[in-house]
Amino acid sequence: MMDTLKKTFVLKGIAVSPGVVIGKAYLFDRLDAQISFYKLSGPSLVTKEIKRLRTALRESEKKLVEIKEKLSHLKVTEPLYILDVHIMILHDRKFISHTIRYIRKMGVNAEWAVRMTIDKYREIFDKFEDEYLKGRFSDIRYVGQMILRNLGGERHKAIPDIGEGVIIISSDLSPADTAQMKIENVLGFATDIGGKTSHTAIVARSLEIPAVVGLESITRSVRTNDCIVIDGSAGLVIVNPDPEMIRRYEDKKRHYAEARAVSLKDAALPAVTRDGHHILIGGNIEFTEEIPSAVTHGADGIGLYRTEFIYINRESLPTEEDHFVSYKRVAETEELAWSTIRTFDLGGDKFFSDPKLAKEMNPQMGLRAIRFCLKEVELFKIQLRAMLRASAFGKVRILFPMISSVEEIRETKMILSQVKNDLLTQGVPFHDRIEIGAMIEVPAAVVIADKLAREVDFFSIGTNDLIQYALAIDRINEQVTYLYEPLHPAVLRLIRHIVKIGHRAGIRVAMCGEMAGEPAYTMILIGLELDELSMNPLAIPRVKRIIRGSTMKEARALLKKVMTFSSAAEIRECVEQSMREKFPEDFQMNEQ
Ligand code: PEP
Ligand code: MG
Repeated sequence: MMDTLKKTFVLKGIAVSPGVVIGKAYLFDRLDAQISFYKLSGPSLVTKEIKRLRTALRESEKKLVEIKEKLSHLKVTEPLYILDVHIMILHDRKFISHTIRYIRKMGVNAEWAVRMTIDKYREIFDKFEDEYLKGRFSDIRYVGQMILRNLGGERHKAIPDIGEGVIIISSDLSPADTAQMKIENVLGFATDIGGKTSHTAIVARSLEIPAVVGLESITRSVRTNDCIVIDGSAGLVIVNPDPEMIRRYEDKKRHYAEARAVSLKDAALPAVTRDGHHILIGGNIEFTEEIPSAVTHGADGIGLYRTEFIYINRESLPTEEDHFVSYKRVAETEELAWSTIRTFDLGGDKFFSDPKLAKEMNPQMGLRAIRFCLKEVELFKIQLRAMLRASAFGKVRILFPMISSVEEIRETKMILSQVKNDLLTQGVPFHDRIEIGAMIEVPAAVVIADKLAREVDFFSIGTNDLIQYALAIDRINEQVTYLYEPLHPAVLRLIRHIVKIGHRAGIRVAMCGEMAGEPAYTMILIGLELDELSMNPLAIPRVKRIIRGSTMKEARALLKKVMTFSSAAEIRECVEQSMREKFPEDFQMNEQ
């Protein structure tokens, strides 16, 4: 069980090696902090110091040659070339003469002199326009660090027996560093510096380990054993994720592995059944960095942008501009036909650490989502203003979470029209017919769906919460996960009811909970006649493939059949068997 007291925060860096990994951090020694400084008190000490430097240079070379030999037995060739460059730097006359000059002229110890040489080179490299050349400063830095280690008389510390898999956090990593790691124990890399061509990036890609570089300050904010998530596709590192985020990233990890097995070349094709029934496919995102992945995996639009992440990892509340920058980015992405931005689902124990808000005993049923917004109206208005402003840049829809009554949606609409009026008075442009939707995730909303349908332009079913509330299962309590069953007849009946009522009222019905991204349920969802399915982008190619391989007629027949069963177990067995028979390549035996 993770430590829920630790604060969740997200760092954004450069995505250099794709994939998702969740694990414990291991902070790789930051050498810079350990450089000593002292003055030498006489010529004999200066001579001794230069000798010490030369010994360290020899030792470093010896070590690099050893690593090269070790690596040449492996298939990875890239680091070998880099190690040659490092050996060349060790022989570089200028590098050596600069360092010796500092020892002689300034009478400083060899460590400090090496440090000064590194700084000098940094200045020179910083002036290069060419990003690649600029990035090559890291070679000088590695070599410098290596000499420093040897000056300390310290043997290279291989990343010790780190036991099970860890995520390496470091300022940067040289091929020598990585070569000494038990690579099978390394799950991912996250570094302060670096770019697409830095060694950490190259090594990570060649070893197929997720990595994010250029995070600037990760070594200052993460400690060994912190739980972290690396999303090497979006360039994000999530530190101390809450259980709900871990669950989502576990899913993402699984979908990632599956997506790799499916060709992306068909991902852009529309999700149309063989008998011509078109289903819109949305991507669920939490950060704008995920937009490219949603597009390449074949999302027609963004079906759920969970905006609460804009609120985390900051000392103060986000400004309207902070919101606007993100929403505008989604809105103006040309490849996306629409973007459904959900107002924040904060409150309860979700990220918010405002001491004014009392800790709730039962946060899932507490002051969260729309309830929280209607209480903190000024906060809500800031977000709505930003959403409306973004609507001038592309097709934006606004989605309200946790609606459980008509009063709630009416009050929300009243606030929205106040914000619209303010913008009009101020002459700020926005789309005047912006569509609004209600998330259907509380059973009461299902029961009064006919009333709610008159108030909004679309419904979006949040199955994660709807199942939680309908089956009375805390979605983050692992004791009851066995009861969490999307194929429970009650859940299917609820969904069927929402779609029926929504269509009767002439509005679209989407689904954006995890259930929408599970290929095993796709035919059932087609049969239920959902207009849009929005999911983790990585799940899209498989779901689209199932849609393209099905007909509405078969899907309806399958649904009709499962609706006659009285237990979830019977339904599951029937659905799984049908999917295995129809799509043997996608559903192996024993697979969900
Ligand atoms: C849901 O409840 O299904 C949903 C999509 O919202 P969230 O997971 O953010 O609560
Ligand atoms: Mg929800």
